[in-house]
Amino acid sequence: MSTPLSRLRNIGIMAHIDAGKTTATERILFYSGVSHKMGEVHEGTAVMDWMDQEQERGITITSAATTCVWDDHQINIIDTPGHVDFTVEVERSLRVLDGAVAIFSAVEGVEPQSETVWRQADKYRVPRIAFVNKMDRIGADFPAVLEQISSKLGARPIAFQLPLGSEADHNGVIDLLGMKAVVYDDSTLGARFREEPIPAELLDEAEERREILVEAIVEDDDDLAERYLEGEEIPEDELRAAAREGCVSMRFVPCFCGSAFRNKGIQPLLDAVVAFLPSPLDVPPIVGFDPSDKERDLDRPPDPKAPFAALAFKIMHDSYVGNLTYLRVYSGTLESGAQVFNSTSRKRERLGRLLRMHANKREDVKVIRAGDIVAAVGLKGTVTGDTLCDKRQPVVLESMEFPDSVISIAIEPRTKADQEKLASALQTIAVEDPTFRVRKDPETGQTLISGMGELHLEIIVTRLLREFHVEAAVGKPQVAYRESVGAAARAECEFEREIGGRGQYAKVRLEVMPLERGAGFAFEDRSSPADIPPEFVPAIREGVEESTERGALADFPLVDLGVRLLGGSWHEVDSSEMSFKIASSMAFSDAVTKASPVLLEPIMALEVTMPEEYLGAVINDLNGRRGKVSTMEMRGGAQVVAAEVPLAAMFGYATDLRSATQGRATYSMQYDHLEAVPANIVDDVVRKIRGY
Ligand code: GDP
Ligand code: MG
Repeated sequence: MSTPLSRLRNIGIMAHIDAGKTTATERILFYSGVSHKMGEVHEGTAVMDWMDQEQERGITITSAATTCVWDDHQINIIDTPGHVDFTVEVERSLRVLDGAVAIFSAVEGVEPQSETVWRQADKYRVPRIAFVNKMDRIGADFPAVLEQISSKLGARPIAFQLPLGSEADHNGVIDLLGMKAVVYDDSTLGARFREEPIPAELLDEAEERREILVEAIVEDDDDLAERYLEGEEIPEDELRAAAREGCVSMRFVPCFCGSAFRNKGIQPLLDAVVAFLPSPLDVPPIVGFDPSDKERDLDRPPDPKAPFAALAFKIMHDSYVGNLTYLRVYSGTLESGAQVFNSTSRKRERLGRLLRMHANKREDVKVIRAGDIVAAVGLKGTVTGDTLCDKRQPVVLESMEFPDSVISIAIEPRTKADQEKLASALQTIAVEDPTFRVRKDPETGQTLISGMGELHLEIIVTRLLREFHVEAAVGKPQVAYRESVGAAARAECEFEREIGGRGQYAKVRLEVMPLERGAGFAFEDRSSPADIPPEFVPAIREGVEESTERGALADFPLVDLGVRLLGGSWHEVDSSEMSFKIASSMAFSDAVTKASPVLLEPIMALEVTMPEEYLGAVINDLNGRRGKVSTMEMRGGAQVVAAEVPLAAMFGYATDLRSATQGRATYSMQYDHLEAVPANIVDDVVRKIRGY
């Protein structure tokens, strides 16, 4: 069972919450499952049984990737979050899919939250088709939604269908390419349908719409355009082939309609996925770099004969088999049981069991090839974003970036039992979410969880309380500051003490100096062996490194500084590793205090998208938050402002932005870099952190 790449579709379904993504996905799995074994199904009853079981197990719908078969094509459906608060979540799904279906409600139309995902899909150049759902509801308006796709999203929607009746009368769709009506049979849950001539009262409208459709399809093809202008009736299969080009090149967005809930229009939607969305062959080769030379770009074509390369894009816990690592294979072929190289962690892995999640079962697969999406069981050293590849031809695929966490909250479990539950819950979450971190505050012993933003932590806390039933008190979100030094300074410490009847002696002289941002920590030994015997140097380094965990200003970790060991002295009997460690730690702290300590704060890259009339309000507000606007541009009819803003000034931004723009703006924010807190406010900030 090996589907040629041209008959493979890796798609996502994007939708605003409540637009009908779950219902549509369920119907897709239902019809594709049914058509799979329609022959032996006793009409009606067996169909129902099958659906019940599906609901009971629920494995496919919650899966990160589900496979179904339609018209001899394999369709992998990759879960795409409806919430846009997690840039990382959305980006990692957009990263591994080749095309998408955007679902809109025929009543609510294009809602603010779906704008953001749509724009991210623009950025990643993901070809889309649109499905206007809920045509059975009062107020359903297909042309109005198309108009919004154009005005709000800046896309070019082209109707490939018209609804056959709407609201209570909605009973099918008109296919504008085939110029026929498709009417659904309710007694088979819409599994059966019949084709009819277009009703006379809809014929004029259908003909008008078809003209727009055909013109859009042929306009980019000289031969077709000429034949069309000469009055030739272009055959349907030629129109379909040209429409596919138009969709894949993102010239327009083919639009379909129906009602997932009332079982209308799903099969034609599947036909459209097959007909118009790209196969892995239609998208550019994936790029990566050579692990031994990051500057050297490498790419991997969608070819089963090329060297193996796959990306781990999601890890999920499964109650039957444990951790499932979802892989998108970009190139090459590999058998289960084979050795594979994790080029990100530089470790070897063995690909044990490999599963493909079908609508109604899991299938063990023996071979995976370019284009495939599968789940691997039991990978030990692979986390989200890692590349698995051929060891002889290693490549690191451009991963999603997981920046350092910038915000933390303290969590205090109520009882001993909660303490244990908390620990295991946090571990589960950490495996699933690469942007989430846990640590213990060395001083208070409190558990600190940190993540990418306020909302991110809020949702984790909600999961802890609701899903894992941990009872805990939760602190206020805090910015994760860092510290560094602004100048070089020297210090010397002589440690002389009697401990347990034995003398301790060490003397250390060192210098600290600032390093460039992002450099981390560096240690250099310039002492002479006569002053300090080399066997004590590691202890000195250790003493210094441990002391970098707490800076001089407000106890935040020190980064971007260098330490140079200059000299010291020792005593034949009384010197020990311990005495050198203590002396170096004291000398280091002294030097840091003298080296113009600086407080570093996380600066966020913010992107706000809004209707033009709110531009002034948004920029004013950013100025008040120490924000620096870097670019302003129009994108798809909306104003987009990019700015750098300190995280400390961004608490409550979601609420403030909503009220300043009547909820019409959306934003995404992610960590960009560390920057010194301006000198005139350092004292205030430190006072606030220390709580006085
Ligand atoms: P999701 O949040 O996008 O996954 O949306 P759901 O599939 O959960 O649907 C949200 C609600 O809308 C549910 O109550 C569905 O039953 C309902 N719904 C979904 N599709 C339709 C439809 O075509 N017509 C009507 N009337 N309701 C629908
Ligand atoms: Mg849902």
